[in-house]
Amino acid sequence: MDFRFPPADDTHRIDVSRLDMPPRILLGPGPSNYHPRVSLALAMNEVGHLDPSFIELMNENQELLRYVWQTGNPFTIPVSGTGSAAMEATVANCVEPGDVVLIGCNGYFGERLCDMASRYGADVRRIERPWGEVFDDAEIAEALDIHKPAILGIIHGETSTGAAQPMDGIGKICREFDCLLLLDTVTSLGGAPVFLDRWHVDLAYSGSQKCLSCPPGISPLTIGPRAWEKINRRKSPVPNWYLDMTMVGKYWGKERTYHHTAPINMNYALREALALIAEEGLEKRWDRHAQNASVLWDGLSDLGIDCLVERRFRLPSLTTACVPDGIDPKAVCSYLLENYNIEIAGAFGPLAGKVWRIGLMGFNSRLENVTLLLAALKDALESA
Ligand SMILES: *Cc1c(COP(=O)(O)O)cnc(C)c1O
Repeated sequence: MDFRFPPADDTHRIDVSRLDMPPRILLGPGPSNYHPRVSLALAMNEVGHLDPSFIELMNENQELLRYVWQTGNPFTIPVSGTGSAAMEATVANCVEPGDVVLIGCNGYFGERLCDMASRYGADVRRIERPWGEVFDDAEIAEALDIHKPAILGIIHGETSTGAAQPMDGIGKICREFDCLLLLDTVTSLGGAPVFLDRWHVDLAYSGSQKCLSCPPGISPLTIGPRAWEKINRRKSPVPNWYLDMTMVGKYWGKERTYHHTAPINMNYALREALALIAEEGLEKRWDRHAQNASVLWDGLSDLGIDCLVERRFRLPSLTTACVPDGIDPKAVCSYLLENYNIEIAGAFGPLAGKVWRIGLMGFNSRLENVTLLLAALKDALESA
């Protein structure tokens, strides 16, 4: 046997010289670039997952997450894993077999929630709208009356369509029907106003790599008191060991009981990304996203490009721009990547080939990025 690398037989040669990745400007649906302070945080000294300094940082992360979400929920933690892990945690903990779960399906992520809920034995019911549209309170009330669900799942920022679901009235309606409200805030948290407690949201999750501008791999989760009542009444254990919040909660709570090793450096990164939000201030951050999105929308319109979503329902963090007739959307994405190091994305499902998805998320929501993108897009369209 020969244990040298690369192997002497030369069959699996890969280049193991120093790693070098291209300096992309990530203006797609996520991940987004992060602030240099987040990079530095990632590189800090490693400590143990029960080190007093790490426990202090855990408390800071919980407090900062409550701030960005505008919630007082004691159970507010970052889950180890990407946004989908925190999404699955809401479903795995709250759904018991046979529960009626109503899901708002107006894009790809509503479909993902349906898939997850059905895998945990839910009786999944759907309320539908075409991709790019949002639900109104009256149709939500009507659907709650028909289906009498235990949980309503809604996507606040549909990254597949660019639509922002108005949230002022839905929570109150859910309370009237004694239904828990589960909200996906992956593409809105840190980029658009989110008021979990005012909106009466019982369970919510997010991701680190969208408007929080942190690397992917750690994901905020919050569970309010009404949802805990349901979890505490479960007849069977949470059918997912890794995401069982009755156990993970003992590590994040007073007991500090080991469950799994926390991703230490990802928690550093999240702490720094959240501290940057607190320093900027939530309202200023939301205004910055709104202003830069508005410059983007006007600039697209000057290029003769329409936006899919009606202006008042657009997400400031993710814009779906309609591909002009005769243009190959994939060729434009490749052109931007090759010539400008800019990443934007196409779409899938009913919007495949019809729109580009342009993200201005967190640290990346800056005027210079918008200006560069518009110029690069103009160049790409002229070269097509
Ligand atoms: C990105 C995203 C997710 C999933 O997050 P991952 O980090 O990709 O697992 C869920 N919901 C929405 C709305 C998203 O944009």
